[in-house]
Amino acid sequence: MTRTYVVTGSASGIGATTAQLLRDRGDRVIGIDLRNAEVEADLSMPQGRIDAAAQAIELAGGTIDAVIACAGISAPIPKTISVNYFGVTELLENLRPALTKSEAPRVAVVSSMASLQQNSPEMVEAALAGDEATALSIAEQYAAAGGMAGYIVYPSSKRALSRWVRRQSITPEWAGAGIPLNAVAPGTVVTPMTQELLSTVEQRSMVDANVPMPLNYHQPPESIANLLIWLTSVENTHLAGQVIYDDGGADASLRGDDIWSWND
Ligand code: NAD
Repeated sequence: MTRTYVVTGSASGIGATTAQLLRDRGDRVIGIDLRNAEVEADLSMPQGRIDAAAQAIELAGGTIDAVIACAGISAPIPKTISVNYFGVTELLENLRPALTKSEAPRVAVVSSMASLQQNSPEMVEAALAGDEATALSIAEQYAAAGGMAGYIVYPSSKRALSRWVRRQSITPEWAGAGIPLNAVAPGTVVTPMTQELLSTVEQRSMVDANVPMPLNYHQPPESIANLLIWLTSVENTHLAGQVIYDDGGADASLRGDDIWSWND
């Protein structure tokens, strides 16, 4: 049965690969991106999230079977928290009414193994509280401090997103409405986002020291796209609230074997 997918970030990298794989198997894809997409919108802005959802729902004819949220940026600037956190969570909330009309609604978002890196707890808490102005002003302070300080915005945005997924996935709005909500956390994926970062030997060694990938090294976008497609398929009936580290073994390398001691 043909399903209707909304894919954000559909013009490049992981989103473009996901959209293409879905179209190849006959599914309908409504892409959302800044440009070169069925819906052109800026997800860094609250109005852009509202307009994008309204247009996508209209194009879909009112019912959306799945949303795969890939749009994101990694720059050390305040906008990164707006796109990567609010551009996902607010858009999903705006799309949720159309998902509830599907017989098998599913959602998957792209987080990052960077969610395991040093972050700003204050920025994460502000994001989780839905306070974009405060999250942005904290991010602004880090960016203005100069040097490497601004690089904390990206891991903070992804930590907040992973926590939002776990928190929301079990609520009446998501699990209660029969919508599995999960995240995929990639390692280093070869896309336009990482092209410059991986362009010199020195920068590659710096990336690899932070993101060890003993299994098959840097990954192609298909390695993430195929998992996103399974998570949003009819076959996924019980996987909810998970952040799946599809990262060549980076998470296992960094966190080791004991991540289950919460109730010891
Ligand atoms: P990419 O730069 O190739 O694609 C990102 C897409 O998002 C682009 O098409 C861009 O136009 C779109 N986008 C950016 N800002 C937007 C906005 N304000 N409104 C609408 N669309 C916007 O990057 P990618 O590597 O495919 O990244 C996809 C996702 O994967 C991102 O969330 C990224 O953080 C995450 N990720 C990537 C890597 C990696 O190594 N490439 C690793 C971990 C996580």
